[in-house]
Amino acid sequence: MRGGGHKDVEQTNYRYQVAVYGDRRSYIRRDGAEFLFGSDKKKRYRDVWERDGRRCVDCGLLLPFEAMHPHHRLERSKGGDDSLANLETLCSADHRQKHRHWR
Ligand SMILES: [Zn+2]
Repeated sequence: MRGGGHKDVEQTNYRYQVAVYGDRRSYIRRDGAEFLFGSDKKKRYRDVWERDGRRCVDCGLLLPFEAMHPHHRLERSKGGDDSLANLETLCSADHRQKHRHWR
């Protein structure tokens, strides 16, 4: 598991460790996959946007945070998580392009 700002984790008696900062619904699975909600998710998207230089990784367009589209490289529905490694910054046009098969 990457550090990623999780100061401590609290062991639960089941499959998940629960992040103790921010929104308690977020969790880290034993294999390190992170699933974030609420304020944790918002914070993660901001970290992704900062990491990508506040630009769309496809076309290089400079984006205000409000306009960034967080893209999961591996879709959530296919098991992708909310880790930094699985997220990238896109503009709305390129995000639509990536998901054009959705219709
Ligand atoms: Zn773009």
